[in-house]
Amino acid sequence: MELSKIKGIGPKTIEYLNKINIYDCDSLLRYYPYRYNVLTPTLLDDNTSDETIIIPGTITSLPKVSYIKRNFNRLSFTFETNKIPINVVIFNRAFLARNLTIGKKVTLVGKYNRLNNQFVAADILLYELKSTKVEPVYHTINGLKMSTITKSINNCLLSNIEIKEIIPEYITSKYDFIDTKAAIKEIHNPSNTNLLKSARLKLIYEELFEFMFKINIMKYKNQIYDDFSIKLVEDNALENILSSIPFSLTNDQLSAINEIISDFKGFKRMNRLILGDVGSGKTIVAFIAIILNKLSGFQSALLAPTEVLAHQHYENFISLFKDIKVGLLVGSLTKKEKNEIIEKLKNNEIDLLIGTHAMLEENVEFANIGLVITDEQHRFGVNQRKSLQNKGKYVDVLYMSATPIPRTYALTIYGDMDISYIKEKPAGRKDIITKQYKFKDMKKIVSTIEEELENGHQAYVIAPLIEDENNTELNDLKQIEDILKENLKKNYNVGILHGKMKQVEKDKVMNNFKEGNLDILISTTVIEVGVDVKNATIITIFNAERFGLATLHQLRGRVGRNSLQSKCLLISDKDTERLSVMEESNDGFYISEKDFEIRGSGDLFGIRQSGDMTFKIADIRRDFKILLQCKKDAEDFVLNNIETDFRDYSYYKDILEHLINNN
Ligand code: ADP
Ligand code: MG
Repeated sequence: MELSKIKGIGPKTIEYLNKINIYDCDSLLRYYPYRYNVLTPTLLDDNTSDETIIIPGTITSLPKVSYIKRNFNRLSFTFETNKIPINVVIFNRAFLARNLTIGKKVTLVGKYNRLNNQFVAADILLYELKSTKVEPVYHTINGLKMSTITKSINNCLLSNIEIKEIIPEYITSKYDFIDTKAAIKEIHNPSNTNLLKSARLKLIYEELFEFMFKINIMKYKNQIYDDFSIKLVEDNALENILSSIPFSLTNDQLSAINEIISDFKGFKRMNRLILGDVGSGKTIVAFIAIILNKLSGFQSALLAPTEVLAHQHYENFISLFKDIKVGLLVGSLTKKEKNEIIEKLKNNEIDLLIGTHAMLEENVEFANIGLVITDEQHRFGVNQRKSLQNKGKYVDVLYMSATPIPRTYALTIYGDMDISYIKEKPAGRKDIITKQYKFKDMKKIVSTIEEELENGHQAYVIAPLIEDENNTELNDLKQIEDILKENLKKNYNVGILHGKMKQVEKDKVMNNFKEGNLDILISTTVIEVGVDVKNATIITIFNAERFGLATLHQLRGRVGRNSLQSKCLLISDKDTERLSVMEESNDGFYISEKDFEIRGSGDLFGIRQSGDMTFKIADIRRDFKILLQCKKDAEDFVLNNIETDFRDYSYYKDILEHLINNN
């Protein structure tokens, strides 16, 4: 139902709700609170300690307002609670004064100081709280009050709109789930903890079941068996390729390649994910697949998330392999250059097309594409990945991801793909020495960087933000540049890179750094993805506490890319467990396991593109048991209904059709 049909939701509110992706009643009702405030009133008595307490009572004097400074005011009044008269102050709430009249019953939240009989309130609820109340708390944005969200939701609930049950009836009764309608009511207006628990369980199950249903369907659809899926791979092909590469592959790289070869040779269309740690050498595996694919007579496409990365792959590829025709298609080419490439591609004069989003465009047609590889797959949406695949009829698909996640999780959330793991690092790699520093250690930090520069190496320095507009405690690019200039003994060449720069500017800086014209690259996390500059041996991360473990590990992976000893300096005045994990280990799989332990799957939202997996209430790690159950239930459900096209389950029939149409 449309929001405008609901009483009490005006056009202004709708405008704001749209900003948080709420467009109709269904999305409004499924805008769940992210936590609850549990408010329990207490009596002010002799036992009152130094904790924050909540006391209901009556206002006994008109509030006095004094303006201390601009943006700083103080409101005070007398109050009676549990027959005890006390003095109340609250800061920066002058606007409340007109609501606080003598005799009005309100509730104070704050701390009581017995010595001067003063209550310093942090908040005042404009009603008398008589018993424990559980209050939902919603994420909101500037201009949209939480009370507006609450009111809109409740108006929506009052107007009795239809809320569909999406879980198959037999499952609902098997687990004795409560109705979705009741669950949604409860989640927004909890009546008691047990019911709230049941409500959450139902809604979590719903999300995870639907997710696992989709994974299952994709698995079915991806399992295409046909004669056309067979590629001819000669027995000595791999050996020949390997002998032309200047290093020997690790065992994990070799087994990944062998898995790809057996996919090529088999009746089944390849749908494989290479899950490897940063720096484990996924790219060469992809390159070899490309050569083998060309030897069997097909073109390949390699899709990269950034131009910098596409260029890097291009340069690497042509330096390693000579007898193959490679084209590069990126957004910054001129129309004429693009058209030339597109023309050649059509005429089968290009064996491999490396590029960015630019190659997804409709006019890019292949003569006979047989392999699509997506690097850093989580950077692309499902539809983007699919649109490339759809440029051919018999396309094998390979994804590469540098977000190592524990195997059990991978098997579930990537259940629609086959997975090759690359855990080993190439021989001769040293662990990156990682150490935490405080800001006061700046002299030491800079001299450590300088040491590397003096040895002819290069340095990355990471800033938490581009520009500190709100005057937070954080260091922005400019501040960091100043700090470095102030402390470095010599004049070094410094480059700056951030996400708001134009692509051509970014490429210029990046190429300058690659070619060694820059000694130091100060960058935001845009540098995170895939960049490979072997001569960079030190990375310093400012305000390291701001980054999740996955990001820190990715950032650190920019160094240690050959046999030189590399270093990672984490600057933070806060002690966080995460930073210690970084000091402790270089193993991405271990780190991701720890990340799960510390933060839940928060950081994981990037692993499957948001389009695949945005959970409103479920959390893969916290709810992993439920996820496993859903996996099983969804498998059975699909198995039992796929032949009849889910004709008894219109909701799933629609999802199925949607998935097929997008394919
Ligand atoms: P990632 O897995 O992070 O994408 P890359 O594929 O960029 O890593 O590889 C990192 C670097 O290691 C590259 O410079 C690559 O040439 C090199 N490399 C890959 N495999 C090996 C190997 N077996 N021995 C030595 N160097 C290797
Ligand atoms: Mg890579």
